[in-house]
Amino acid sequence: MAYFADLILPLPLDKRFTYSLSDAEAEFICEGMRLAVQFGKNRIYTGIVAKIHQNPPQVYEAKPIHQILDEKPLVSLHQLKFWSWISHYYLCSEGEVMRAALPGAFLLESESIVKLRKNFDFPEEKLNDDEFLVVEALQRQSSMKIQEIQELLDRKSVLPVINLLVEKEVVELNQEIYEQYKPKEVRFVRLRSEFEAEAAMHRLLDELSNAPKQREILLTYFSLTANSRKPLKAKTLCDKSGATSAVLKSLVKKGIFEEYYEQTDRVGFKGETFNKEIIFNKYQQQAFDQIKSYFAEEQVCLLHGVTSSGKTEIYIRLIEDVLKTGKQALYLLPEIALTTQLIKRLQDYFGDKVLVYHSRYSLNERVEVYKHVLSNSEKGQIIIGARSCIFLPFQNLGLIVVDEEHETTFKQFDPAPRYHARDAAVVLAAQFKAAILLGSATPSLESYFNADHNKYALVELNRRYGEVLMPDMEVVDIKTAHRKKKMTGHFSERLIEEIKESLEEEEQVILFQNRRGFSPILECNTCGHSPQCPNCDVSLTYHSHNNQLRCHYCGYHIAMQQKCMACGSDEISTKGFGTEQVETELRALFPDARIARMDQDTTRGKHSYEKIITAFENFETDILVGTQMLTKGLDFRKVNLVGIMNADNLLNFPDFRAHERSFQLMQQVAGRSGRTKKRGKVLIQTYNPYHRIIQQVSTGNFSEMYREQLEERYQYKYPPYFRLIRLTVKSRDFSKTNDAAAWLATALEKVFERFVLGPEFPPVARIRNEYYKNILIKIPQKQSLGKTKAMVHRILSSFGTIAAFRSVRVIINVDPQ
Ligand code: ADP
Ligand code: ZN
Ligand code: ZN
Repeated sequence: MAYFADLILPLPLDKRFTYSLSDAEAEFICEGMRLAVQFGKNRIYTGIVAKIHQNPPQVYEAKPIHQILDEKPLVSLHQLKFWSWISHYYLCSEGEVMRAALPGAFLLESESIVKLRKNFDFPEEKLNDDEFLVVEALQRQSSMKIQEIQELLDRKSVLPVINLLVEKEVVELNQEIYEQYKPKEVRFVRLRSEFEAEAAMHRLLDELSNAPKQREILLTYFSLTANSRKPLKAKTLCDKSGATSAVLKSLVKKGIFEEYYEQTDRVGFKGETFNKEIIFNKYQQQAFDQIKSYFAEEQVCLLHGVTSSGKTEIYIRLIEDVLKTGKQALYLLPEIALTTQLIKRLQDYFGDKVLVYHSRYSLNERVEVYKHVLSNSEKGQIIIGARSCIFLPFQNLGLIVVDEEHETTFKQFDPAPRYHARDAAVVLAAQFKAAILLGSATPSLESYFNADHNKYALVELNRRYGEVLMPDMEVVDIKTAHRKKKMTGHFSERLIEEIKESLEEEEQVILFQNRRGFSPILECNTCGHSPQCPNCDVSLTYHSHNNQLRCHYCGYHIAMQQKCMACGSDEISTKGFGTEQVETELRALFPDARIARMDQDTTRGKHSYEKIITAFENFETDILVGTQMLTKGLDFRKVNLVGIMNADNLLNFPDFRAHERSFQLMQQVAGRSGRTKKRGKVLIQTYNPYHRIIQQVSTGNFSEMYREQLEERYQYKYPPYFRLIRLTVKSRDFSKTNDAAAWLATALEKVFERFVLGPEFPPVARIRNEYYKNILIKIPQKQSLGKTKAMVHRILSSFGTIAAFRSVRVIINVDPQ
């Protein structure tokens, strides 16, 4: 009997691929293991075994596998099921899900390795310079990758050189697969056993009396190991004795110390815990009890609790309870960079049971977290992290908390799978029969609608913890202020007054300006020209700190221009304003204040975000200027004033969710004010003080906002009443993009009629020299989602067979944000 394995390969292919297995292989291999297989010409890929069976494929001859990579499954059956759901729901391939789900280090790839032939007999003097360099290098290191040879010869095209060397039978090529993950090794030291006896020790110290540094190391060693049998790191010994590692090395050379290496974990927490008991106030207790009873009925639960109402404490207690049952808990957050504070709160409570997982982590760190969760070790019990955490190999998940559930960064935008982690988490929880809680001070319309229609259970928490009042909101009409000349740059008189007062009282201030997309652009006062990105349809924005004009889409940049590039006039000025400009104006207004800025530009490095937050927490900063990054879940004690610099550029965003988002954003920023006893203050500067959303934000009227927005969504056929699928056609050729989009729209209209919108160019229709055009499909509630998707799939398949459109790509986004 022949055996076959269906594999998921990390490629955007519709199908699984079948390989043949020998009897012995079939005996050993099980679902969820990785196999290395050949696919296409000479390429080796890592595939995951999705199924083992005995039916040979119909249309091709199954190839044998190349290599078995695991001894035990790396992917659980739960995961395979979940991947399959994601791929069906979000219309992408299982291979794409696999790429997103597994840390890159698990996906081995093939690469050519160049080796010297043993006993080659080509006369070395006949090699040219390049060849000689390569041969010489290969005599020192047994093998080299192509890339290393490129570096050696300092150019890209090295294949001709290698080919000639192969022909001359000097070198050979090997296809080698290598595992990318390397366990971290730590160097330890110990005294050689012959010196452990008391007498030997004294002799040693005497011998070293004219080598004071070495003697110092030895003494430090004795004091550090006197009461502890723990292995001693070489680094610790050097640090404590103040010696360099060279001194230690010389002791190793003399045979006094020996070095040894051990693997350690990169991840994990090393501090102490302060597991202080949480005592709920009566509102928290009520909410907690309600949540528990809904969980018992297996309901998805939405917690609508105002900012600073103590939701986090409720999450902590829920997690504690689920750990007691021996199950795992997952705490999902919108963007992990924004959570240093929260991670610390959880680690203070749960210690090293908390594992953090996110994309800023290195390859190796991610592998370690994955393995901990897979083995359900003590360490893998609580996972906290951003959206990709839903792909971890949970064994028995008991609880998912989705914090700030309204956040749009839960939706992956690029590449596929374009999943929404909150919605996928609901499915994941159902798969494990785990409890799931969505929490927010400003729930998304979708989730609130679900609660409104009894699909989710709703729990409300309307009071701030400690009876702190909601901040006092004041709307400042900057249109009038401008007319009356009561503005200094972008600051109204009111805002300046309030900042002054806060500084006098030694309180802190947060100023919010919408994301850097609104940074200043350069405009010629004579002809109106502003410098454009050559690759994208956007204006370049001005960055004062390096005096550059930059494109936010592709990174293209040029030096700041002194003259208009179109007409040569030197009357040019910057229009619009971003965080950087707020900061500059602020420094002029308050020269003595300590000011910091937090946006994408200032938080690039791994720890830069933490540094800014920590400085603010430690009161080393008086005023923090920032973008959306400031809105999320931060708990500062001494902030009593929050200023929203300009509410209008939020409201005027061309998007059906713009109003909902503006409400959420402003409510969240406002929530950073006055979290302790004193009542906080929020100033909203706007040109439209009577805008409904501004009114609703200033009165904190969530339910009115919800009702009015819902009414609009109904009228204009948007979620939650209609579901959306957006197709984006993309290519380097403008007219092909147009033709392809028109073809698709026509095909779709035949089936979905008036529920097809577009094709239409997005606001930025060219990025990195590729043209984009969108088609939107609206799906009424009573129309079957499954059938609709099958139909879209069919139309896309016939689209794929049209030769003229071969260079055109179609991106599918289900539930676009
Ligand atoms: P939210 O997550 O709803 O914005 P938090 O959980 O951050 O609110 O709570 C706000 C503040 O109140 C935090 O500083 C938190 O430590 C404190 N707090 C909340 N509940 C309790 C409690 N039961 N006991 C002590 N402090 C609490
Ligand atoms: Zn000009
Ligand atoms: Zn660009």
